[in-house]
Amino acid sequence: MIQTIRGFRDILPEDIVIWQAIEKTASKLFEDFGFKEIRIPIMEKTELFARSIGETTDIVEKEMYTFPDRKGDKLTLRPEATASVVRAYIQHNMGASDSVQKLYTIGPMFRRERPQKGRYRQFYQINAEVFGIESPYIDAQLILILNELFKRLGLSELKAHINSLGCKECRPTFQKELLGFLEGKKEHLCENCLRRMDKNPLRTLDCKVPECREALKDAPSTLNHLCDKCKDHFEIVKNVLTEQNVEFTVDKTLVRGLDYYSRTTFEILTTALGAQSAVAGGGRYDALIKELGGPETYGIGFAIGFDRLAEIVAQMINGEDVEVKDGSSTTSEFNSESDFMNLLSPKVPDIFIIPLGEKAIRLAYMWTSALNIAGIRTETDYSGRSLKSLMKRADKLNAANVLIAGDKEIEDNALVLRNMKTKEQFFITTDNPVEQIETLLNRV
Ligand code: ATP
Ligand code: MG
Repeated sequence: MIQTIRGFRDILPEDIVIWQAIEKTASKLFEDFGFKEIRIPIMEKTELFARSIGETTDIVEKEMYTFPDRKGDKLTLRPEATASVVRAYIQHNMGASDSVQKLYTIGPMFRRERPQKGRYRQFYQINAEVFGIESPYIDAQLILILNELFKRLGLSELKAHINSLGCKECRPTFQKELLGFLEGKKEHLCENCLRRMDKNPLRTLDCKVPECREALKDAPSTLNHLCDKCKDHFEIVKNVLTEQNVEFTVDKTLVRGLDYYSRTTFEILTTALGAQSAVAGGGRYDALIKELGGPETYGIGFAIGFDRLAEIVAQMINGEDVEVKDGSSTTSEFNSESDFMNLLSPKVPDIFIIPLGEKAIRLAYMWTSALNIAGIRTETDYSGRSLKSLMKRADKLNAANVLIAGDKEIEDNALVLRNMKTKEQFFITTDNPVEQIETLLNRV
């Protein structure tokens, strides 16, 4: 039997309910905040990712699915969305129609890493990108949006970790000091860090190797080297978040995996998924648009790990205590009356038509189709099985009503509609049953 390839998986109908509810909640939220959806291709020229994500990142060094197409062009399955959204922004000269663009996109990403819980080779992200705003208010607003999304999903206590990486003015002096520090720790650093020292020393700060973490715990922090503009920027972000009651921790080790970030970076962490702690991450990338051949434009965005988010939501719905970093718990805040919970309620048939006899099956098919077209969720059965066995099937499907249509009922022109919960019964004539049912179900 042919099975899925390693790290790729099916998301089955019973799980999709959560995915759809998250997607609807996220789209609604983005639209509430004035974002528009953009859809970008799954595949791009390799060069786009190599140039934007950075040659020394894990993604570009070892995680990309890259292959030549039949003409030899190097193509890559997208490992993240920002590069493509920036490419689209430049290619379609989007800044010309409106200097501010707020975009979101949802879809699969591909990274060839070791699969485990919360880590797949095809995974999904919910992305938001904002172009053309320098102000720190937009940095705060993106974190507010993440916070609000988690709230609307019933996960009210997730805490943001934030940091500032400085800009091209203040980073060089910091890098010099960091390099000096790293030189003194060389014998404690892993091979990767030694390599990063040459190419992008900042990235040593988020090395996950325990010995490196220990060696780097007193490393200089970007926060002590920010220029006045970066300092003011970060202060406003923190003040605004505090005023809006968005909880955050300043985390000087948060430099994130991608090269293109500057100033504000942020991540949302959880302990619900074992080793995979990041649910979302993002930051400012003011230099990226120009770097990719566009005009000088401010940019900032985030990516949410959809698979991880869906897993956390599933755990919460199953009543597991979802603990997030910093010891806060989310289950107590869970509001079962929320819009999100309504989206999760299972879609059961409004009506199950039970046809008894050949003639009845044909009519049941016609009525079912007409009811489906009218937007009333209706099922029937073509097997010719007995009343008893079809009642069992209606029960199994959790149908709200059954419509019994035996040859006798049809002859008497009196079909029986039974509410399965209240056991109330109504008679329906065979001419135009759709209208009568719409009236009975209050659908008109
Ligand atoms: P990690 O440190 O877990 O590898 P990352 O820094 O590589 O994460 P980003 O590039 O910031 O991740 O992507 C944003 C989000 O996408 C992450 O916070 C995470 O939730 C999710 N994500 C990243 N890689 C995977 C993966 N292989 N499988 C599932 N989700 C992922
Ligand atoms: Mg990664």
